[in-house]
Amino acid sequence: MKKIIIANWKMGLTFKETQFLLEKISTFEAYRHFLIVCPDFLNLAQATQILKDTKIKTGGQNCSFHHHGAYTGEISALDIKAAGAEYVIIGHSERRRIFKEDNSMINQKIKIALEAKLKPILCLGESLLERKTGRTRPVLSSQLKNALKGIKIRKASDLLLAYEPVWAIGSGQPMESEEAERMHKYIAERAFALTGKRLAVIYGGSVKPDNAHDFIKQKNIAGLLVGGASLQAKSLKRLLNI
Ligand code: PEP
Repeated sequence: MKKIIIANWKMGLTFKETQFLLEKISTFEAYRHFLIVCPDFLNLAQATQILKDTKIKTGGQNCSFHHHGAYTGEISALDIKAAGAEYVIIGHSERRRIFKEDNSMINQKIKIALEAKLKPILCLGESLLERKTGRTRPVLSSQLKNALKGIKIRKASDLLLAYEPVWAIGSGQPMESEEAERMHKYIAERAFALTGKRLAVIYGGSVKPDNAHDFIKQKNIAGLLVGGASLQAKSLKRLLNI
């Protein structure tokens, strides 16, 4: 079954490396899954240009929680859309933890992204401490509820959810795929209760070509959000054909 692979390149490539990788993936032929590439902002417009004759879509890695105005260093959702992107990652744990994004900022970003006709990829995930103290489900439920407060989702495809246990990101220690499947089912049910829509829930956290199949074979896992392993054309190609 066709799944969604999201390549989150973070700040992991130089300008030149990004261009090189984009050129490479624009030559990929017949692959199984659907690919969304999220380069840094400097490369976003050009990425969309380079990939325009392919089925590959692009996304921003973040957006401002303001519409427009005197916000030095911010990037608006409208400009991300104008650069040709269809998606935007919101609430990645690195944004929550390092840049102190809270639930109300994330909620505002989702509203603004939807108004700009971008499809948010909302990231959710528990920390190791929350996991160890048995709070995973309440934490996920509250992240979801707060992020979607006051938001009406018109079509299921307007919003993607990414379940990324914080302890699994970049650690080389993915969640067991059977446990991930149970968590995805839980998140999908909570999301349905809140939105009335069957949203796609994607897994992220130390996915590599060698373990990707364990996840995508699961019924409730709609795809993969991949950081480290999406930075090389060879492993990205393998992920797309699993
Ligand atoms: C991520 O940054 O969202 C991520 C899943 O990274 P990695 O694949 O490197 O764990």
